[in-house]
Amino acid sequence: MIARRLAGFGTTIFTEKTRLAVEHGAINLAQGFPDFDGPDFVKEAAIAAIRDGRGQYARMTGIPEIHDALSAKYRRDYGLDYRVGEELTVTSGATEAIFAAILGVCDPGDGIVLFEPYYDSYKASVVMAGGVPSFVTLEAPQWSYDPASLVDAVTERTRAILLNTPHNPTGKVFSDDELEAIARLCVERDLVCITDEVYEHMVYEGRHVPMATLPGMRERTITISSFGKTFSLTGWKIGWAAAPRHLSAAVRAAHQFITFATATPLQHAAACALSAGPEYYDRLLAGYRERRDYLVGELARIGFGVRAPAGAYYVCADFRRFSFEDDVAFCKHLIEDVGVAAIPPSAFYDRPGKGRGYVRFAFCKKLETLEAAVGRLEKLCG
Ligand code: PMP
Ligand code: GLN
Repeated sequence: MIARRLAGFGTTIFTEKTRLAVEHGAINLAQGFPDFDGPDFVKEAAIAAIRDGRGQYARMTGIPEIHDALSAKYRRDYGLDYRVGEELTVTSGATEAIFAAILGVCDPGDGIVLFEPYYDSYKASVVMAGGVPSFVTLEAPQWSYDPASLVDAVTERTRAILLNTPHNPTGKVFSDDELEAIARLCVERDLVCITDEVYEHMVYEGRHVPMATLPGMRERTITISSFGKTFSLTGWKIGWAAAPRHLSAAVRAAHQFITFATATPLQHAAACALSAGPEYYDRLLAGYRERRDYLVGELARIGFGVRAPAGAYYVCADFRRFSFEDDVAFCKHLIEDVGVAAIPPSAFYDRPGKGRGYVRFAFCKKLETLEAAVGRLEKLCG
């Protein structure tokens, strides 16, 4: 009885793999959520907001306190000015912001360009909006793409390019040259850029460059991010979209009818979290760098083909040394016989067969968890 527009998508790979991990007692390096808790000062702020009676609907666009905190954050981190009240919209996670942005700008039949592998909600959101996705493939092992394929993906009907940097699942951080080329194309072809920057604070090499900082781009960019990644509280589902007034209006036109507003006490706590000083971000990054280096080193020692990701908290590793050809079969073996859950990246491609030689491990886990997983992965060595 599922409507045709959704019938082909099945159940998300994250839901599926976490269910199987529980069923088989496997260590979950599949779904990207920390197995450690977020900061106490943020949890205390949520408890205080609940005790203070902040229990009714929030303002549709987000409470004033979080607008102030976000506006200050974008100015401080990137020199970007977003006007409180008008140019920021708080959503139920980045997932909702992505859907609201697509629904808000895309008419039925309009094209949206996606880079594949892509975070799974992108294609489903485009299809739910009646849009037509087209794909530019990031090629392993460097996850680079042919610039001509991007130009070719843009047609008369293209309305937007959806960018994700740092990138899930590959850990790619788009280079300055790539960002400039995408920006030029957006300006030349009058396209909107929807940019998913949820991993903005997890960049291990170089720095995060928001698309909105490039010439001509602030006026045509919807920047999306998420409190859940940065503050290790993914279950709170607080995200946002920062965009010029006309694009914020488009996001809000959809947001007001999808969820209307987002959990009030958690917005108060997120506003408090966003005022954290640079030491918080330094510690977060140092912790993830240590986990990244550990996991990449151990995967290489075990026999995976692996490069250290420049950003985000995932490693895509080539497993073909272990005589498996297919990522789905390899992940089944991992979960059932090795006791480690991971994601088969083919779930993130439009064309079947792509991504088949790779497996995605999430390293947003305690070091002990990663060590235990490595202990089990040793079994692959025979
Ligand atoms: N975008 C990307 C690239 C992601 O990896 C995720 C997953 N966590 C999201 C968006 C969703 O973020 P949220 O949990 O805030 O909805
Ligand atoms: N973003 C997380 C990942 O890529 C999980 C998102 C989800 O479970 N929907 O693993």
